[in-house]
Amino acid sequence: MIEINNLHKSYKMGSNSLHVLKGLNFSIKEGELVAIMGSSGSGKSTLLNILGMLDEADSGEYTLDGVPIKNLNETKAAKYRNKFLGFIFQSFNLINYKSAMENVALPLYYQKVPRKQREEKAIKYLSQVGLKEWAHHLPNELSGGQKQRVAIARAMAAEPKVLLADEPTGALDSKTSYEVMDLIQNINDQGNTILVVTHEEDIAHMCKRIVHLKDGVIVEDKTVDQVRASQYV
Ligand code: ADP
Ligand code: MG
Repeated sequence: MIEINNLHKSYKMGSNSLHVLKGLNFSIKEGELVAIMGSSGSGKSTLLNILGMLDEADSGEYTLDGVPIKNLNETKAAKYRNKFLGFIFQSFNLINYKSAMENVALPLYYQKVPRKQREEKAIKYLSQVGLKEWAHHLPNELSGGQKQRVAIARAMAAEPKVLLADEPTGALDSKTSYEVMDLIQNINDQGNTILVVTHEEDIAHMCKRIVHLKDGVIVEDKTVDQVRASQYV
């Protein structure tokens, strides 16, 4: 589903350049639930933004569902982004003056789905995240965990091939974090491919595979079972 080959990225600041991703390689199959783990500044968001076609690598290859992602104009990039990818952010990124249902329906509006269908789909996905009763509430009437569940419903509404989550539990307490990760696991059980960026080990362990990033290099890439086995020898 996702394949990257020798991916490099630097940020240029004046005459200086910061080499953030230093030749990354991995592939992710359909249906995987992968944590990209690493401490702050290790390049996790930079990587996720490239995978999410919000930014471009300086060199290397990226293939998404068989499509080489390179030199796309903004229109084409936006088209692929809508078709392939759903995003979940630490800060939820909901629109405050729109109800939960309207927030979930918004990506479908941009896909020109007719109103009635948009609303039906929004309710369907809100039900999946356990928030049907909250459809007509505004974000500020919801708890942090509920807001993130609305954001997850929104990411799913367009039925993307891959969900990309950047620190989805970063703004939540532990109990709520585990509930959100439970939901992410349930969605993965239905066959969705999901990448979760996190700096928290316990969150990473709720995925099935952990890609460990350190200073822009992959230092470990193992299934959670392999990680557990190596911890108990
Ligand atoms: P993480 O998400 O793992 O915390 P990031 O990918 O956000 O790491 O950042 C990696 C490094 O790149 C950090 O040193 C950060 O300061 C730097 N960085 C991130 N975005 C930019 C940018 N737009 N311009 C310059 N430097 C950046
Ligand atoms: Mg980050």
